[in-house]
Amino acid sequence: MDLKKDVLERFLRYVQIDTQSNEESTSYPSTAKQMVLLNLLAEELRALGVPNVQQDEYGYVMATLPSTLPPTHPTANRVPTIGFLAHVDTSPEVTGANVRPQVIPAYQGGVITLVGDPSQKIDPAESVELSNSMGHTLVTTDGTTLLGADNKCGVAEIMTAVAYLMAHPEIEHGPIAIGFTPDEEVGRGAEYFDVTKFGATYAYTLDGSVAGEVQFETFSADAVTITFHGRNQHPGYAKDKMVNAIKLASEFLARLPKDHLSPETTSNYEGFVHPYGIEGGVEETRIKMLLRDFSEEKLLEYRIFLQGLAQEIKTLEPRAEITLEFRESYRNMRATLNKVHHVVEYAEEAIRRVGFEPASTPVRGGTDGSRLTAMGLPTPNLFTGAYNYHSLREWASVDTMVKAVETVVELVKLWAERGERES
Ligand SMILES: [Zn+2]
Repeated sequence: MDLKKDVLERFLRYVQIDTQSNEESTSYPSTAKQMVLLNLLAEELRALGVPNVQQDEYGYVMATLPSTLPPTHPTANRVPTIGFLAHVDTSPEVTGANVRPQVIPAYQGGVITLVGDPSQKIDPAESVELSNSMGHTLVTTDGTTLLGADNKCGVAEIMTAVAYLMAHPEIEHGPIAIGFTPDEEVGRGAEYFDVTKFGATYAYTLDGSVAGEVQFETFSADAVTITFHGRNQHPGYAKDKMVNAIKLASEFLARLPKDHLSPETTSNYEGFVHPYGIEGGVEETRIKMLLRDFSEEKLLEYRIFLQGLAQEIKTLEPRAEITLEFRESYRNMRATLNKVHHVVEYAEEAIRRVGFEPASTPVRGGTDGSRLTAMGLPTPNLFTGAYNYHSLREWASVDTMVKAVETVVELVKLWAERGERES
Protein backbone atom coordinates (compact mmCIF):
# COMPACT_ATOMS: atom_id res chain seq x y z
CA MET A 1 0.00 0.00 0.00
CA ASP A 2 1.35 3.41 -1.04
CA LEU A 3 0.95 5.50 2.12
CA LYS A 4 1.76 8.77 0.39
CA LYS A 5 -0.78 8.27 -2.39
CA ASP A 6 -3.43 7.10 0.06
CA VAL A 7 -3.01 9.91 2.58
CA LEU A 8 -2.94 12.56 -0.19
CA GLU A 9 -6.07 11.21 -1.90
CA ARG A 10 -7.96 11.12 1.37
CA PHE A 11 -6.79 14.58 2.35
CA LEU A 12 -7.84 16.13 -1.00
CA ARG A 13 -11.24 14.42 -0.72
CA TYR A 14 -11.87 15.64 2.84
CA VAL A 15 -10.74 19.26 2.40
CA GLN A 16 -13.23 19.77 -0.45
CA ILE A 17 -16.11 19.17 1.96
CA ASP A 18 -17.10 22.39 3.74
CA THR A 19 -17.21 21.61 7.47
CA GLN A 20 -16.94 25.08 9.02
CA SER A 21 -18.31 25.19 12.57
CA ASN A 22 -20.31 28.12 13.97
CA GLU A 23 -19.78 29.82 17.32
CA GLU A 24 -23.29 31.33 17.40
CA SER A 25 -25.11 28.05 16.90
CA THR A 26 -26.75 26.29 19.84
CA SER A 27 -27.26 22.98 18.02
CA TYR A 28 -24.85 20.06 18.11
CA PRO A 29 -22.94 19.71 15.93
CA SER A 30 -23.01 23.47 15.45
CA THR A 31 -23.46 23.09 11.67
CA ALA A 32 -25.24 20.28 9.81
CA LYS A 33 -22.60 20.26 7.05
CA GLN A 34 -20.07 18.69 9.41
CA MET A 35 -22.25 15.56 9.24
CA VAL A 36 -21.40 15.15 5.55
CA LEU A 37 -17.78 14.37 6.38
CA LEU A 38 -18.61 12.46 9.58
CA ASN A 39 -21.02 10.24 7.59
CA LEU A 40 -18.42 9.72 4.87
CA LEU A 41 -15.79 8.69 7.44
CA ALA A 42 -18.17 6.17 9.02
CA GLU A 43 -18.84 4.74 5.55
CA GLU A 44 -15.15 4.59 4.65
CA LEU A 45 -14.33 2.83 7.94
CA ARG A 46 -17.01 0.21 7.20
CA ALA A 47 -15.69 -0.18 3.65
CA LEU A 48 -12.23 -0.87 5.11
CA GLY A 49 -13.78 -3.72 7.06
CA VAL A 50 -13.45 -2.11 10.49
CA PRO A 51 -15.97 -3.81 12.77
CA ASN A 52 -18.20 -1.94 15.18
CA VAL A 53 -18.36 1.47 13.44
CA GLN A 54 -20.85 3.65 15.32
CA GLN A 55 -22.20 7.14 14.92
CA ASP A 56 -24.31 8.73 17.62
CA GLU A 57 -26.92 11.50 17.46
CA TYR A 58 -24.25 14.17 18.05
CA GLY A 59 -22.29 13.04 15.01
CA TYR A 60 -19.33 11.48 16.83
CA VAL A 61 -17.90 8.58 14.82
CA MET A 62 -16.34 5.80 16.88
CA ALA A 63 -14.84 2.47 15.83
CA THR A 64 -12.60 -0.19 17.31
CA LEU A 65 -9.91 -2.29 15.69
CA PRO A 66 -9.63 -5.50 17.69
CA SER A 67 -6.30 -6.67 19.06
CA THR A 68 -4.17 -8.80 16.73
CA LEU A 69 -2.12 -10.23 19.60
CA PRO A 70 -2.26 -14.01 20.03
CA PRO A 71 -3.55 -14.93 23.53
CA THR A 72 -0.13 -16.43 24.28
CA HIS A 73 1.66 -13.13 23.61
CA PRO A 74 3.53 -12.01 26.75
CA THR A 75 1.74 -8.64 26.89
CA ALA A 76 -1.62 -9.89 25.56
CA ASN A 77 -3.45 -9.20 28.81
CA ARG A 78 -1.90 -5.88 29.60
CA VAL A 79 -2.15 -3.82 26.45
CA PRO A 80 -4.72 -1.08 27.05
CA THR A 81 -7.02 0.22 24.32
CA ILE A 82 -5.33 3.19 22.67
CA GLY A 83 -7.42 5.86 21.00
CA PHE A 84 -6.70 8.20 18.08
CA LEU A 85 -8.80 11.31 17.55
CA ALA A 86 -9.16 14.17 15.07
CA HIS A 87 -11.77 16.85 14.53
CA VAL A 88 -13.60 17.34 11.23
CA ASP A 89 -14.63 20.99 11.59
CA THR A 90 -12.70 24.02 10.34
CA SER A 91 -12.33 27.46 11.88
CA PRO A 92 -15.23 29.94 11.68
CA GLU A 93 -12.63 32.71 11.13
CA VAL A 94 -11.91 31.96 7.45
CA THR A 95 -14.25 30.55 4.82
CA GLY A 96 -14.04 26.82 4.13
CA ALA A 97 -16.48 26.72 1.20
CA ASN A 98 -15.22 25.77 -2.29
CA VAL A 99 -11.73 24.84 -1.14
CA ARG A 100 -9.52 24.31 -4.20
CA PRO A 101 -6.40 22.55 -2.96
CA GLN A 102 -3.20 23.05 -4.99
CA VAL A 103 -0.63 20.26 -5.06
CA ILE A 104 3.06 21.10 -5.49
CA PRO A 105 4.68 17.73 -6.36
CA ALA A 106 8.26 18.55 -5.28
CA TYR A 107 8.81 21.88 -3.55
CA GLN A 108 11.97 23.52 -4.87
CA GLY A 109 12.24 26.38 -2.36
CA GLY A 110 11.27 30.02 -2.66
CA VAL A 111 8.07 31.99 -2.18
CA ILE A 112 4.82 30.23 -3.13
CA THR A 113 2.30 32.55 -4.80
CA LEU A 114 -1.28 31.35 -4.50
CA VAL A 115 -3.03 31.17 -7.87
CA GLY A 116 -6.49 32.39 -6.88
CA ASP A 117 -5.18 35.56 -5.22
CA PRO A 118 -1.58 36.47 -6.16
CA SER A 119 -1.41 38.89 -3.21
CA GLN A 120 -1.37 35.80 -0.98
CA LYS A 121 2.13 34.35 -0.68
CA ILE A 122 3.70 31.70 1.54
CA ASP A 123 7.19 32.92 2.30
CA PRO A 124 9.87 30.64 3.78
CA ALA A 125 11.10 33.73 5.67
CA GLU A 126 7.81 33.75 7.59
CA SER A 127 7.07 30.04 7.51
CA VAL A 128 10.33 28.44 8.70
CA GLU A 129 8.93 24.93 8.30
CA LEU A 130 8.79 25.55 4.56
CA SER A 131 12.60 25.58 4.39
CA ASN A 132 12.56 22.17 6.12
CA SER A 133 10.23 20.81 3.44
CA MET A 134 12.49 20.93 0.38
CA GLY A 135 11.56 18.23 -2.15
CA HIS A 136 8.30 17.49 -0.28
CA THR A 137 4.90 17.26 -1.89
CA LEU A 138 3.00 20.25 -0.53
CA VAL A 139 -0.67 21.16 -0.53
CA THR A 140 -1.78 24.78 -0.34
CA THR A 141 -5.04 26.65 -0.90
CA ASP A 142 -5.65 28.82 -3.96
CA GLY A 143 -5.52 31.83 -1.64
CA THR A 144 -9.28 32.42 -1.40
CA THR A 145 -10.20 29.99 1.39
CA LEU A 146 -8.52 28.16 4.23
CA LEU A 147 -7.26 24.67 3.46
CA GLY A 148 -8.69 22.87 6.46
CA ALA A 149 -5.43 21.02 7.07
CA ASP A 150 -6.41 21.79 10.67
CA ASN A 151 -7.56 19.11 11.25
CA LYS A 152 -8.21 17.16 8.04
CA CYS A 153 -4.51 16.25 7.96
CA GLY A 154 -5.15 14.42 11.24
CA VAL A 155 -8.33 12.83 9.88
CA ALA A 156 -6.56 11.62 6.71
CA GLU A 157 -3.57 10.33 8.71
CA ILE A 158 -5.72 8.30 11.10
CA MET A 159 -7.79 6.88 8.21
CA THR A 160 -4.62 5.93 6.31
CA ALA A 161 -3.16 4.27 9.41
CA VAL A 162 -6.41 2.31 9.83
CA ALA A 163 -6.35 1.26 6.15
CA TYR A 164 -2.73 0.17 6.54
CA LEU A 165 -3.37 -1.82 9.72
CA MET A 166 -6.46 -3.49 8.20
CA ALA A 167 -4.32 -4.50 5.19
CA HIS A 168 -1.59 -5.84 7.48
CA PRO A 169 -3.18 -8.11 10.07
CA GLU A 170 0.28 -9.55 10.77
CA ILE A 171 1.23 -6.32 12.60
CA GLU A 172 0.85 -6.98 16.31
CA HIS A 173 -1.15 -4.38 18.17
CA GLY A 174 -3.65 -4.17 21.01
CA PRO A 175 -7.20 -2.81 20.68
CA ILE A 176 -7.35 0.56 18.90
CA ALA A 177 -10.21 3.05 19.25
CA ILE A 178 -10.83 5.59 16.47
CA GLY A 179 -12.82 8.76 17.02
CA PHE A 180 -13.84 11.66 14.76
CA THR A 181 -15.40 14.68 16.42
CA PRO A 182 -17.15 17.93 15.41
CA ASP A 183 -16.90 21.47 16.80
CA GLU A 184 -13.33 21.60 18.15
CA GLU A 185 -12.82 25.08 16.70
CA VAL A 186 -15.73 26.47 18.70
CA GLY A 187 -14.41 24.89 21.90
CA ARG A 188 -17.13 22.24 22.12
CA GLY A 189 -15.43 19.19 20.60
CA ALA A 190 -15.62 17.04 23.72
CA GLU A 191 -19.00 18.32 24.92
CA TYR A 192 -21.01 15.12 24.36
CA PHE A 193 -18.08 12.75 23.88
CA ASP A 194 -18.84 9.48 25.64
CA VAL A 195 -15.46 8.46 27.08
CA THR A 196 -16.81 5.14 28.41
CA LYS A 197 -18.30 4.17 25.06
CA PHE A 198 -15.08 5.15 23.27
CA GLY A 199 -13.40 2.55 25.45
CA ALA A 200 -9.80 3.78 25.34
CA THR A 201 -7.55 4.00 28.40
CA TYR A 202 -5.33 6.60 26.72
CA ALA A 203 -5.67 8.51 23.51
CA TYR A 204 -3.78 10.84 21.17
CA THR A 205 -5.20 13.70 19.14
CA LEU A 206 -3.49 14.24 15.78
CA ASP A 207 -3.99 18.00 15.82
CA GLY A 208 -0.47 19.38 16.24
CA SER A 209 1.74 20.93 13.61
CA VAL A 210 5.56 20.73 13.37
CA ALA A 211 7.17 17.36 12.52
CA GLY A 212 8.14 15.46 15.67
CA GLU A 213 5.96 17.47 18.01
CA VAL A 214 4.24 15.83 20.99
CA GLN A 215 2.30 18.23 23.19
CA PHE A 216 1.18 17.49 26.72
CA GLU A 217 0.95 20.91 28.32
CA THR A 218 -1.71 23.43 27.49
CA PHE A 219 -3.00 26.56 29.09
CA SER A 220 -5.48 26.32 31.91
CA ALA A 221 -8.28 28.69 31.06
CA ASP A 222 -11.16 30.50 32.72
CA ALA A 223 -13.56 33.08 31.39
CA VAL A 224 -15.24 35.90 33.24
CA THR A 225 -18.11 38.28 32.55
CA ILE A 226 -17.79 41.50 34.54
CA THR A 227 -21.02 43.48 34.76
CA PHE A 228 -21.03 47.14 35.80
CA HIS A 229 -24.45 48.25 37.00
CA GLY A 230 -24.85 52.05 36.81
CA ARG A 231 -27.87 54.35 37.02
CA ASN A 232 -29.33 55.96 33.94
CA GLN A 233 -31.00 59.40 34.01
CA HIS A 234 -32.10 61.96 31.45
CA PRO A 235 -28.69 63.52 30.68
CA GLY A 236 -30.15 67.04 31.06
CA TYR A 237 -31.14 66.36 34.64
CA ALA A 238 -28.51 63.83 35.69
CA LYS A 239 -26.49 65.92 38.11
CA ASP A 240 -25.66 63.85 41.22
CA LYS A 241 -27.94 61.11 39.95
CA MET A 242 -26.36 59.42 36.95
CA VAL A 243 -23.83 56.64 37.40
CA ASN A 244 -22.39 55.82 33.96
CA ALA A 245 -21.52 52.12 33.66
CA ILE A 246 -19.59 52.77 30.41
CA LYS A 247 -17.19 55.10 32.23
CA LEU A 248 -16.73 52.64 35.09
CA ALA A 249 -15.96 49.82 32.67
CA SER A 250 -13.46 52.07 30.86
CA GLU A 251 -11.82 52.94 34.15
CA PHE A 252 -11.50 49.23 34.88
CA LEU A 253 -10.00 48.48 31.45
CA ALA A 254 -7.54 51.37 31.76
CA ARG A 255 -6.12 49.74 34.90
CA LEU A 256 -5.27 46.45 33.18
CA PRO A 257 -1.52 45.93 32.71
CA LYS A 258 -0.28 46.67 29.20
CA ASP A 259 3.39 45.65 29.16
CA HIS A 260 2.71 42.26 30.74
CA LEU A 261 -0.23 39.92 31.41
CA SER A 262 -1.58 40.67 27.90
CA PRO A 263 -1.69 38.40 24.84
CA GLU A 264 0.11 41.05 22.80
CA THR A 265 3.09 41.20 25.21
CA THR A 266 3.50 37.58 26.38
CA SER A 267 4.85 34.31 24.96
CA ASN A 268 6.02 30.81 25.99
CA TYR A 269 4.96 30.13 29.57
CA GLU A 270 3.63 33.63 30.39
CA GLY A 271 -0.08 33.94 31.10
CA PHE A 272 -2.53 36.78 30.56
CA VAL A 273 -5.90 38.34 31.25
CA HIS A 274 -7.56 39.39 28.01
CA PRO A 275 -10.66 41.53 27.46
CA TYR A 276 -12.17 40.35 24.16
CA GLY A 277 -15.62 41.86 24.21
CA ILE A 278 -17.53 44.82 25.62
CA GLU A 279 -21.16 45.80 25.23
CA GLY A 280 -23.72 47.85 27.08
CA GLY A 281 -24.84 51.35 27.94
CA VAL A 282 -25.12 53.80 30.81
CA GLU A 283 -27.32 51.51 32.90
CA GLU A 284 -25.27 48.36 32.44
CA THR A 285 -21.99 47.48 30.69
CA ARG A 286 -20.48 44.01 30.39
CA ILE A 287 -16.84 43.14 29.73
CA LYS A 288 -15.95 39.61 28.65
CA MET A 289 -12.48 38.39 29.48
CA LEU A 290 -10.27 35.33 29.17
CA LEU A 291 -7.81 34.26 31.87
CA ARG A 292 -4.97 31.99 30.73
CA ASP A 293 -1.93 30.46 32.38
CA PHE A 294 -0.07 27.14 32.53
CA SER A 295 -0.40 27.14 36.32
CA GLU A 296 -3.76 26.86 38.04
CA GLU A 297 -2.40 28.80 41.04
CA LYS A 298 -1.58 31.71 38.73
CA LEU A 299 -5.05 31.50 37.26
CA LEU A 300 -6.47 31.87 40.77
CA GLU A 301 -4.18 34.88 41.32
CA TYR A 302 -5.61 36.45 38.14
CA ARG A 303 -9.12 35.98 39.49
CA ILE A 304 -8.14 37.72 42.73
CA PHE A 305 -6.40 40.48 40.77
CA LEU A 306 -9.55 41.19 38.71
CA GLN A 307 -11.71 41.13 41.84
CA GLY A 308 -9.31 43.63 43.43
CA LEU A 309 -9.55 45.95 40.40
CA ALA A 310 -13.35 45.76 40.56
CA GLN A 311 -13.15 46.67 44.23
CA GLU A 312 -11.03 49.75 43.38
CA ILE A 313 -13.69 50.93 40.92
CA LYS A 314 -16.39 50.28 43.50
CA THR A 315 -14.46 52.47 45.95
CA LEU A 316 -14.41 55.27 43.35
CA GLU A 317 -18.17 55.02 42.87
CA PRO A 318 -19.89 53.27 45.79
CA ARG A 319 -23.32 53.57 44.14
CA ALA A 320 -22.25 51.18 41.39
CA GLU A 321 -22.70 47.42 41.57
CA ILE A 322 -20.02 45.27 39.97
CA THR A 323 -20.42 41.53 39.59
CA LEU A 324 -17.83 39.04 38.34
CA GLU A 325 -19.03 35.72 36.97
CA PHE A 326 -16.15 33.25 36.50
CA ARG A 327 -16.41 30.05 34.47
CA GLU A 328 -13.85 27.27 34.15
CA SER A 329 -12.99 26.58 30.50
CA TYR A 330 -10.31 23.86 30.51
CA ARG A 331 -7.28 22.73 32.48
CA ASN A 332 -3.62 22.04 31.66
CA MET A 333 -3.27 18.30 31.06
CA ARG A 334 0.32 18.22 32.31
CA ALA A 335 -0.37 17.28 35.94
CA THR A 336 -2.44 14.28 34.82
CA LEU A 337 0.01 13.23 32.13
CA ASN A 338 2.93 13.40 34.57
CA LYS A 339 1.25 10.58 36.47
CA VAL A 340 1.06 8.41 33.32
CA HIS A 341 4.16 9.74 31.65
CA HIS A 342 4.73 6.55 29.63
CA VAL A 343 1.86 7.74 27.41
CA VAL A 344 4.12 10.61 26.33
CA GLU A 345 7.33 8.51 26.40
CA TYR A 346 5.87 5.91 24.03
CA ALA A 347 4.86 8.69 21.64
CA GLU A 348 8.38 10.13 21.81
CA GLU A 349 9.84 6.70 21.07
CA ALA A 350 7.48 6.19 18.10
CA ILE A 351 8.53 9.60 16.75
CA ARG A 352 12.22 8.57 17.04
CA ARG A 353 11.46 5.37 15.16
CA VAL A 354 10.13 7.34 12.18
CA GLY A 355 13.29 9.44 12.19
CA PHE A 356 12.46 12.64 14.04
CA GLU A 357 13.74 14.08 17.28
CA PRO A 358 10.65 14.47 19.50
CA ALA A 359 10.00 18.01 20.68
CA SER A 360 7.51 19.25 23.19
CA THR A 361 6.14 22.76 22.98
CA PRO A 362 3.58 24.24 25.38
CA VAL A 363 0.24 24.92 23.69
CA ARG A 364 -0.89 28.50 24.30
CA GLY A 365 -4.48 27.41 24.01
CA GLY A 366 -6.53 24.31 24.64
CA THR A 367 -6.98 21.14 22.65
CA ASP A 368 -9.81 18.64 22.75
CA GLY A 369 -7.23 16.62 24.66
CA SER A 370 -7.27 19.08 27.57
CA ARG A 371 -11.00 18.47 28.01
CA LEU A 372 -10.73 14.73 27.47
CA THR A 373 -7.84 14.49 29.94
CA ALA A 374 -10.01 16.25 32.53
CA MET A 375 -12.82 13.81 31.66
CA GLY A 376 -10.55 10.87 32.56
CA LEU A 377 -8.98 10.10 29.17
CA PRO A 378 -5.33 11.27 29.16
CA THR A 379 -4.81 12.61 25.60
CA PRO A 380 -1.59 14.28 24.43
CA ASN A 381 -1.40 15.83 20.97
CA LEU A 382 0.78 14.68 18.04
CA PHE A 383 2.12 16.49 14.97
CA THR A 384 0.33 16.40 11.61
CA GLY A 385 2.60 18.28 9.18
CA ALA A 386 0.11 21.16 8.71
CA TYR A 387 1.00 24.83 9.14
CA ASN A 388 -0.45 28.39 9.17
CA TYR A 389 -3.72 27.29 10.72
CA HIS A 390 -6.88 29.36 10.27
CA SER A 391 -5.36 31.23 7.36
CA LEU A 392 -5.63 31.63 3.57
CA ARG A 393 -1.94 30.64 3.59
CA GLU A 394 -2.49 27.30 5.32
CA TRP A 395 -0.37 24.48 3.88
CA ALA A 396 0.61 20.89 4.53
CA SER A 397 3.57 18.65 3.73
CA VAL A 398 2.38 15.26 2.46
CA ASP A 399 5.80 13.76 3.26
CA THR A 400 5.43 14.81 6.90
CA MET A 401 1.83 13.52 6.87
CA VAL A 402 3.22 10.10 5.90
CA LYS A 403 5.53 10.32 8.92
CA ALA A 404 2.50 11.01 11.10
CA VAL A 405 0.79 7.88 9.71
CA GLU A 406 3.96 5.89 10.45
CA THR A 407 4.06 7.35 13.96
CA VAL A 408 0.56 6.01 14.64
CA VAL A 409 1.57 2.57 13.36
CA GLU A 410 4.80 2.55 15.39
CA LEU A 411 2.93 3.74 18.46
CA VAL A 412 0.41 0.89 18.45
CA LYS A 413 3.28 -1.58 17.89
CA LEU A 414 5.12 -0.07 20.86
CA TRP A 415 2.11 -0.35 23.14
CA ALA A 416 1.89 -4.03 22.16
CA GLU A 417 5.62 -4.60 22.78
CA ARG A 418 5.72 -2.86 26.15
CA GLY A 419 2.17 -3.04 27.45
CA GLU A 420 0.76 -1.02 30.30
CA ARG A 421 3.36 0.14 32.78
CA GLU A 422 3.17 -1.38 36.24
CA SER A 423 2.40 1.43 38.64
ZN1 LIG B 1 -7.32 21.74 15.22
